[in-house]
Amino acid sequence: MAGGINAAIVPGLKCAGAANRITEGQETDQYSCSACGFGFLIDWYEGGPPETPCWPISEEEAERRRAEAALVFARLSNPPR
Ligand SMILES: [Zn+2]
Repeated sequence: MAGGINAAIVPGLKCAGAANRITEGQETDQYSCSACGFGFLIDWYEGGPPETPCWPISEEEAERRRAEAALVFARLSNPPR
């Protein structure tokens, strides 16, 4: 069990839409965003499984996450030289 019951749905890392868990591993769970199809892994080993449900999130939280993701993905597509 990686993220457990509270991590069955998490905010997608790209658009902050609902991402469903596809596979649950020992330390890492695999997710796919139902809104944009973005797939990603979350490693729950370090922090442990979340104690409260990861979904739903407020619209403010979604905004904040989208803003952060935009920065991250901009860096990934334009790596510093
Ligand atoms: Zn998405």
